[in-house]
Amino acid sequence: MSTHDLVIVGGGPAGLTAGLYAARARLDTVLLERLSPGGQVLTTDVVENWPGDIDGVNGFDLADRMRDHALKFGLEIRGTEITKLTADGKIKVLHGPDGEIRTKAVVLAVGAQPKKLGVPGEDLLTGRGVSYCGTCDGPFYREQTVVCFGGGDTAAEECVFLTRFAEKVYMVHRRDELRAAGILAERVMNNPKIELLLSQVPLEIKGESKVEAVRLKNLKTGEEYDLPCDGAFVFVGTSPNTEFLRGVVDMDREGFLICDRDQHTSMNGVFAAGDCCSKLLRQIVVAAGEGAVATYAAQRYLEEVHE
Ligand code: NAP
Repeated sequence: MSTHDLVIVGGGPAGLTAGLYAARARLDTVLLERLSPGGQVLTTDVVENWPGDIDGVNGFDLADRMRDHALKFGLEIRGTEITKLTADGKIKVLHGPDGEIRTKAVVLAVGAQPKKLGVPGEDLLTGRGVSYCGTCDGPFYREQTVVCFGGGDTAAEECVFLTRFAEKVYMVHRRDELRAAGILAERVMNNPKIELLLSQVPLEIKGESKVEAVRLKNLKTGEEYDLPCDGAFVFVGTSPNTEFLRGVVDMDREGFLICDRDQHTSMNGVFAAGDCCSKLLRQIVVAAGEGAVATYAAQRYLEEVHE
């Protein structure tokens, strides 16, 4: 069985940039993606902080362009899932339902996925009014009322996006001030269709066969009440897709991978990039930067350890 120089696991902005750099460096590389390349960017309507795209760029288009850019330089992209990482001496072995892949170095760019609220009714009504993606499901709520949970950048962006369809958007946040960045918070405040419900938490999502209401608690007054709605959108952060790496590489309490400044994880020859890493800021531009660093560091590792 042949041994690659580098295998990149994950095809979001971090993985695709790592792939672009690896292809240009003429490393024998394959990028493995379990879904279609693009990652969470695919669920973003407009990315407006990708430098150079002054008028913003559709998330789908940006992902397509990143993929095509890497393909242009000869990157091989394969659709498969990895469920285990082991070492055989200096060689890393990636295991999945399609068999084993051997490689000298790895870039883990496995990304993150939306966190759940963890309240009764959420799982039961997912796909029946509970959603984690405004861009995907917003058009179903034309002239209707939706409730969104979360006070970060995602929640702010998605609430504003949902006002294109919904008649009314309630934004429920557990603290008395938003976490979202200035310009995003301003857009929320200035949007007449959005009503902020601060210092409130969800207790339950209610409905028989579809969402009918959310039960909320006001943390200041202790009052509990039902807020009728047609949809409940959850934007309360992300958790990393790193469960299969537990006990293999070091991670923080939430499962984000701990890397040094060269994106090297605790396992020799295994690098990581993008939203799966423990860090301050999760942005497309950061993920892309880390992807480039990870491949460059992997290249140096290959020269030092494997030549
Ligand atoms: P986030 O920044 O972690 O915000 C999560 C929000 O959900 C916070 O307001 C948090 O409240 C709240 N929350 C967490 N758990 C909760 C629970 N169990 N019940 C109720 N509320 C809960 O996550 P995010 O907004 O998804 O953003 C993730 C990363 O992507 C961030 O680094 C963000 O800057 C970035 N991002 C950037 C852009 C952009 O630049 N345009 C767009 C989207 C995302 P607290 O505030 O009280 O903690």
